[in-house]
Amino acid sequence: MSESVRGIIFSAYDRLEEAHWNIHQMEYNYHDSDAFRYSLNSFLRVIKEVPQILQMELQSRDGFTGWYKEQRKVINEVPLIKSLFKQRDIVVHQSILKPNSSATLGITEGRGIKLGLNLPLNPFQDSDFLMVNYLLTEANSDRDSDVLGILSDDEDQLPCIERYWRLAPFEEDILELTVQAWETIASLIRNTIIWLDEDPSQLRLSIDCIHTSSSVALLIYKREWIEVINAEINNGKDINELLYLMKVLRNTYQV
Ligand SMILES: [Zn+2]
Repeated sequence: MSESVRGIIFSAYDRLEEAHWNIHQMEYNYHDSDAFRYSLNSFLRVIKEVPQILQMELQSRDGFTGWYKEQRKVINEVPLIKSLFKQRDIVVHQSILKPNSSATLGITEGRGIKLGLNLPLNPFQDSDFLMVNYLLTEANSDRDSDVLGILSDDEDQLPCIERYWRLAPFEEDILELTVQAWETIASLIRNTIIWLDEDPSQLRLSIDCIHTSSSVALLIYKREWIEVINAEINNGKDINELLYLMKVLRNTYQV
């Protein structure tokens, strides 16, 4: 690979790579609220810096400033970019970004939910909260109300939570939104490289290694984890201790 283009726009491209990494962090932490939200906040900060840094790196070149101003105007009018950049300003200057979140608690045979209950899920809570809270409620109820079969011992049908993250006014999951935003900003870099009369294929400007939200949205719980949690409920552990234990189980033994 020629060093030329990467050298010319080194910092802007490095930021673009950082934003790519931020999306992987969101993907990896999809069910852990704080980690997911912090990764989203970082993504919003980093992706907005790319056009600014690109400008700083190239502004001394003849004709660049005028041409680039028009390019940025077009990018800034893309509704998703406009909205995300505004969200970033909220994060940086004012308060907490509060994405929307909802979830379905249910049973899966491996692909999607077979039977489930749609439940609101506070964006500041991990997906585990729904499951642990369900187990606590069941443990404290005398009636046999486990219609979903979360407590059964059927190994072909496992308890699960399917979670969704949204940012109004968009319909897609936040994971897809960030990939689209990344690609839009990458296209600004691509156009700039072409303007420089260089070959954009020298740099990686597409993203095809992020899992779709539909493939990470489903969190499956092993029956033995449910048993461990239920035993600890009987031992009198409180919800915070149970949540911690569930996270340890989940991170130690992936399904
Ligand atoms: Zn990747």
